[in-house]
Amino acid sequence: MSKDALHESQIKELTAKLRGCVVLPSDPGYEEARRVHNGMIDRKPAAIVRCMDAGDVMATVNFARDNGRRLAVRCGGHNGAGLGVADDAVVADLARLRGVRVDPEHRTARVGGGCLLGEVDHATGAFGLAAPFGIISTTGVGGLTLGGGSGYLTRKHGLSIDNLREVDLVLADGSFVTASERQNQDLFWAVRGGGGNFGVVTSFLFDLHPVSTVYAGPMLWRLEDTAEMLTKYRDWMAEHEDDHDFYGFFLMQGFPLEDHFPEELQGKTVCGVLWCHTGTLDQAEKALEPIRAYKKPALDWVAPMSYLTLQSMAGAGLPRGLQWYFKADFVGELTDDAIEIHAKYGKKSPSVWSVMHLYPVDGAAGQVGPSETAWSYREAKWSAVYAGVDPNPGYRDAITNWSRSYWQELHPYSLGGGYINMMMDEGEDCIRSTYRDNYERLADVKATYDPDNLFNVNQNIKPARATRPV
Ligand SMILES: Cc1cc2nc3c(=O)[nH]c(=O)nc-3n(C[C@H](O)[C@H](O)[C@H](O)COP(=O)(O)OP(=O)(O)OC[C@H]3O[C@@H](n4cnc5c(N)ncnc54)[C@H](O)[C@@H]3O)c2cc1C
Repeated sequence: MSKDALHESQIKELTAKLRGCVVLPSDPGYEEARRVHNGMIDRKPAAIVRCMDAGDVMATVNFARDNGRRLAVRCGGHNGAGLGVADDAVVADLARLRGVRVDPEHRTARVGGGCLLGEVDHATGAFGLAAPFGIISTTGVGGLTLGGGSGYLTRKHGLSIDNLREVDLVLADGSFVTASERQNQDLFWAVRGGGGNFGVVTSFLFDLHPVSTVYAGPMLWRLEDTAEMLTKYRDWMAEHEDDHDFYGFFLMQGFPLEDHFPEELQGKTVCGVLWCHTGTLDQAEKALEPIRAYKKPALDWVAPMSYLTLQSMAGAGLPRGLQWYFKADFVGELTDDAIEIHAKYGKKSPSVWSVMHLYPVDGAAGQVGPSETAWSYREAKWSAVYAGVDPNPGYRDAITNWSRSYWQELHPYSLGGGYINMMMDEGEDCIRSTYRDNYERLADVKATYDPDNLFNVNQNIKPARATRPV
């Protein structure tokens, strides 16, 4: 038994207050329950509480605090840094808070704090509606939204936080509050980008938008064409700056030797764009016609498809358990020099699984002011991620070093900071530079709602007036 194991009396005290159950290191389901998406993360919590409702979340928060335990909060478990789990911690596992209630008349969805993106898409898609989320359906709504949330609808409808109307939270003192533009406004401001620093969100209320068929899919070129195609991509995005239906993220990534990928791509790293045009078919075809004409793609799977199909497409080849190492930047301008660096690191890619993605975060997201929510970089055009990925733990150093040196060379060409949801363990300076002028206000809100920094398994914002060392 670990010296930090919970005593039987403590476990009894906790379970007596729960509708859900507790998974302990001695339980058969523990190994599976402690795993997260990133196979590099190998942490052993003292207990995993499978919360069934807000009451269970309150009991778990109170228990961790009163017993001096670290508290981790887990939704989809997708976070690259593994922030849904911590050694010797009590984990509030929200995976059973999965209800989604769509109100088609008012175009909103009430979403449980443990939902995955695909579950919400499924429920809202039945009404031809969608909330703007990320591109992989197994990602948790909780972590993604609280950090910002970018995806195919970002240029058209903004970040996930720009479509958030209200949250219900359990705070560090165990109390339950609602935060919105009308109540607890400071908290509502902070949770829109400030991550899980302020409490456990048990439900989200999102605005929805009509989305059904989109003109979407990958258009890929040879890796040797990266510098040329990235330069053209920059021009195409600039030409469509005010056309928010026009969305495409640039990528460099490979295709493993697996049958479900087209034969001609297996084992190769390529460059390309994953498009999602939300206008009419006619508008979409016209917008993409000069792109197709410029250089014949090696693969062109761009076609009308349901938004739900698109949302489930990108994650199909990314099973849980791969090793991931993330680095991130906010990009204002793609200079010729930066493009050359991208092309260089594409050639040096350590594995076919590794990716570079440039996600547009302008358009509607750029029309929100930098201090209106915690997400500060509203002038950014792209959120960039350089992720070394491989199934083999033996390649851990290779993928880590590639991401780090890629980032080190490109960071001087960025705006500073980086998307907190795509960081690893960069530390306080990087977190501060991500929030810039919003950091002090976030630290004040943290001091009000979590003065002892109970919620610290996250990209941590330190309380402005800590009552004890944290
Ligand atoms: C393959 C992959 C694809 C991705 N694609 C995108 C994308 O398209 N767009 C994008 O914006 N991001 C994307 N991300 C990043 C993603 O947003 C983060 O990994 C995010 O943290 C995942 O959220 P989660 O709930 O699954 O994570 P978890 O590991 O469960 O949690 C992450 C953090 O959020 C906190 N948290 C989670 N839920 C709650 C809650 N209900 N209340 C309070 N705190 C909570 C946790 O405490 C933890 O600190 C991607 C990541 C991966 C690995």
